[in-house]
Amino acid sequence: MDGSRHNSVNGDSPAESSKRTMTVALVGNPNSGKTTLFNRLTGANEPVSNYPRVTLTPHRREIHHRGWTLNVVDLPGIYSLTTQSPEEQAARAFLRAQTPDVLLNIVDAGNLDRSLFLSTQLIEMGRPRVYALNMIDEARAKGITVDTAAMSAMLGGPVVETVAPSGQGFEILLDALVAAMESAVPSPTDIKIVYDAHLEDAVKRVQSLISQLHDDKLDEAQSRWLAIKLLEGDTELLSEEGDHRHLMELVRRETYDLKRLHGEDVDTMLATARYGFINGMLRETRTMPEGSGQTDRTHRIDKLLLNRYLALPMFLAMLWVMFEATFSLGKYPTDWIDKGVKFIGATLAPVIPPGLFHDVLIDGVIAGIGGTLVFLPNIAILFFFLALFGETGYLARTAFLVDRLMHPFGLHGKAFIPLVMGFDCNVPAIMAARTIDSPKARLIAILVTPFTACSARLPVFILFSGAFFSEFAGTVVFAMYIISIMAAMGAAVLLGRLVGRDQQTAFAMELPPYRMPTPA
Ligand code: GDP
Ligand code: MG
Repeated sequence: MDGSRHNSVNGDSPAESSKRTMTVALVGNPNSGKTTLFNRLTGANEPVSNYPRVTLTPHRREIHHRGWTLNVVDLPGIYSLTTQSPEEQAARAFLRAQTPDVLLNIVDAGNLDRSLFLSTQLIEMGRPRVYALNMIDEARAKGITVDTAAMSAMLGGPVVETVAPSGQGFEILLDALVAAMESAVPSPTDIKIVYDAHLEDAVKRVQSLISQLHDDKLDEAQSRWLAIKLLEGDTELLSEEGDHRHLMELVRRETYDLKRLHGEDVDTMLATARYGFINGMLRETRTMPEGSGQTDRTHRIDKLLLNRYLALPMFLAMLWVMFEATFSLGKYPTDWIDKGVKFIGATLAPVIPPGLFHDVLIDGVIAGIGGTLVFLPNIAILFFFLALFGETGYLARTAFLVDRLMHPFGLHGKAFIPLVMGFDCNVPAIMAARTIDSPKARLIAILVTPFTACSARLPVFILFSGAFFSEFAGTVVFAMYIISIMAAMGAAVLLGRLVGRDQQTAFAMELPPYRMPTPA
């Protein structure tokens, strides 16, 4: 054991070292802490926010543990492997094409009922997996305890409690990943979610045809997974080459029969069984305090902040306070910097002989740097507020708020996720427009987003309003933001007329729980 570690330091033979490499894919719901865990684990610095859909494309990093090289990949957050949002497609394409050696499934310990739905589907992929029971600190604070040993037995992979921002549990997690590769883990195919008897029969029949067609090249878990996927109506998994007519014919017949027999779709039957599995498991492995209103605190805060009448005034008030604070609090450090720079100039001025160099240094360099430096405190304070809003979960709520406001204009609700993100930076905001399904609404969102005042423009606003409207600077910047929102909305309405509108699609915006921001 110890020897092998030394070996890897001194350099193995190439064959040896390539054997000791594994790809670990981070899979989990949006906002379960994947990116925080990824950053903390690998020392990367990807954007983290208490806001869904921040990670859109896979990031990868290498780390080393016990002589192994772990190639860690942070995937976009997903709730399921079946529906077809761009994130889900990206994550699934990765899982299929790259076949990671170990799936690291991040589940939110405070939200197990929902997080584990994805886990039930990962189980069926039959790959080695390790579970990070993340946000265990929040769960404990709510009085939730989990029997991780019992849970690992039921999920077919070690369950490790973690707190991603502090790195708590990471050693054990890394050990578990390495152990999964050194195959000290129960065979993942032992675990099965058992479906309704008729459905199971159908799965068996499809599975046996698949095995025939593939000359038994697929193992039991793989063919079962494929059979379930096909019955679920997912044909994307079939390889391009080959004749699938027989298979598709059988699948069509089976789904038809099942629907006639049960009066519900196969997806519904599958989902019922999966939730049944989760419920059963949680009843045995999780204890919750009596009558716990799970997200009590969040509920209470939302009742106030999302109140029908008060929400908007409070949002505007908060924005105004933010800009006011930026200038009134920023005034003090600004004064110090200003005085400091003047002092340096005044001390140096008599020392340096008059002439070109004197003028360049005193009036050019020092005064120039000073003139820019004085805005630093303002910008720092503002960025602090923006980060605070993002981290606590308030930013997601502003999207929710603005969405409600925009419905009378007939605009697509999801368009406002990019718009709100646009206040931070337009580039990812425009990329986030990918989450909008309707092409017209997506185009409008993309065209309108640049109107939102991104944070890079802020220093300019601050500079000018500070210079021209000294006393009212805060209010002026506040007004700039309101104007930018109105410009974006106006343009959206105009473009909506030009491009035409699609049918409104209903969508549920998720609201993450409120959290204390983490320093980092
Ligand atoms: P992702 O969407 O899964 O990538 O989630 P993020 O990594 O962006 O994290 C979402 C939010 O949860 C951030 O505000 C994190 O600071 C917070 N967070 C992540 N892990 C933990 C944890 O273990 N405990 C607590 N209390 N907060 C966490
Ligand atoms: Mg993320």
